[in-house]
Amino acid sequence: MKLPKTGASWSELKSEMSARGAGDAKWRDGKTAVYVFNAGPEVEQVQKEAYTAFMSENGLGPLAFPSLAEMEKEVVSMALDLLHGPEGSTGAMTSGGTDSITMALKTARDFARSKGQSGPANIVLPQSAHLAFDKAAHLMDIEVRRAPLKTDGSYEADPAAIADRVDSNTVMIVGSAPNFPHGIIDPVAALSELAIEKGVWLHVDACVGGFLAPFARMNGVPVPAFDFELDGVQSMSADLHKYGYAAKGASTVLFRSADLYQHMPFDFAGWSGAPMKTPTLAGTRPGGAISAAWAVMNHLGVEGYCRLQGKVCAAREKVEQGLRERGFEILGTPLLGLIAFRHPDLYSFALYGEIYKRGWFTSVTKEPRSLHLMLSPKHADMIDDYLRDLDAACETVRAGESAPAETVQPRYN
Ligand SMILES: *Cc1c(COP(=O)(O)O)cnc(C)c1O
Repeated sequence: MKLPKTGASWSELKSEMSARGAGDAKWRDGKTAVYVFNAGPEVEQVQKEAYTAFMSENGLGPLAFPSLAEMEKEVVSMALDLLHGPEGSTGAMTSGGTDSITMALKTARDFARSKGQSGPANIVLPQSAHLAFDKAAHLMDIEVRRAPLKTDGSYEADPAAIADRVDSNTVMIVGSAPNFPHGIIDPVAALSELAIEKGVWLHVDACVGGFLAPFARMNGVPVPAFDFELDGVQSMSADLHKYGYAAKGASTVLFRSADLYQHMPFDFAGWSGAPMKTPTLAGTRPGGAISAAWAVMNHLGVEGYCRLQGKVCAAREKVEQGLRERGFEILGTPLLGLIAFRHPDLYSFALYGEIYKRGWFTSVTKEPRSLHLMLSPKHADMIDDYLRDLDAACETVRAGESAPAETVQPRYN
C-alpha cells in the first residue's frame, strides 16, 4: 500500500477502523483470557482519558514536563511501597516487562563489572522464567543457563539446580512471582538465601504478579515472601499494564538501592547533539503511559485493587473447582490469576483448538502440554460459560471429531 495522495476525513477513517476491529477478539465480552486485562468499562475510561491528556508530552524531558517526572516518581514510589522496598530503594517506569527485564539485566551486568567481573557473563534462570531474559541476554551477548524445575509436581524453581549452574561469571539469578507458564510463585526466600551465600544478584520477575500478589495477600491469600522484604532481592520487574490495569506501555523496574540503580541510566555527551541522560532503553517516552498508570492507581487505591484482585482469585478458585470435578489436573498450586491444567485422557492442544472454535481466546503451556488461562476481574462472571464450552470441547475431542491430536498446534501470530 502507498500513502494516499490526498487525506481522508477522520469520520471516514474512524468508521473504517471500527469495521476492521470487528474481526478482533471480543475481549470486552470476557471470552479472552490472554493479552488483555479487563477491569471493566470504568477503569478503561480512566485509562483512555488520562492517556490522551498527556499523549503528546514526552517523558524524555523532565524539565519541560515536571508533571510527568512527578507522576513517574509517585508511581515508582507506590510500587516500592507495595513491594517492601527498603529506605533508599528506587526505580523507573519502562515500556513493559521485556523492557524492565532488559534494563535490570543491563544494570546487574554493569554492577558485576564494577566489582571486577570480566569473563563471559552468564545468567541462571529456572526453566519457567519468561523468554524476555533470553531476549535481553541475546542483545547483550550474555549466556543463559536454564535450570530444571523441582520434580515434585510443584512447578517451582529448584534452588539447588540453580546453585549448580552459578559460577564467578554469573551476573544474575532469577525467580518469578509468579512464572507465566504455570502461574506458580518460585521459592524466592530460598533463592534469596542462595543469592546472599553466593554473592550473586537476584532479580524477581513479578511482571504479572507485582500488582496482584500484595492485594491477594491483603485479601487473605497465603502468598509467600517474594519481594524486597527478602534481603537477597536486588531488583524486581512489575508490570502496570497487567494486573495494575494501566494502559499498555507501562511497567516498573525497581532496585534495592540507588547504589545499584546508578548502573542503569545511560549518560552520554560524545556526539554533536546536546548531552543526554536517559534512565531506560527509550529516548522519547510516551507521557500517556505514565499519566494513565498514575491515574488508574490513584483511581483504584488499595480498596479498588483489593476488590478487583479478589474477583480474579475467586474466578481462579471457581474454575479450579470445576476443572477438578471434570477430572483435570491443575499444575502445582496457583495462588494468583494464572492457571495451567491438563486432562489425563484428552490432548490439551486439541481441547485448545475446540475451545477456540467456541469463541475463547486463551493460551497453552508447552511443558507439560496443558491449557492456560490468564484471568481478569471480568472472568468472575464467565466461569460457568467457560466450563460449559469446555465440556462441549471435551465431548468433541473424546468422540475423535476434532483434528488428529498431533496435527493441532496453537497459533499466536
Ligand atoms: C508478561 C511477562 C513478561 C514480559 O512483559 P511484557 O510486558 O509482555 O514485555 C515477563 N515476565 C512475566 C512473568 C510476564 O508475565
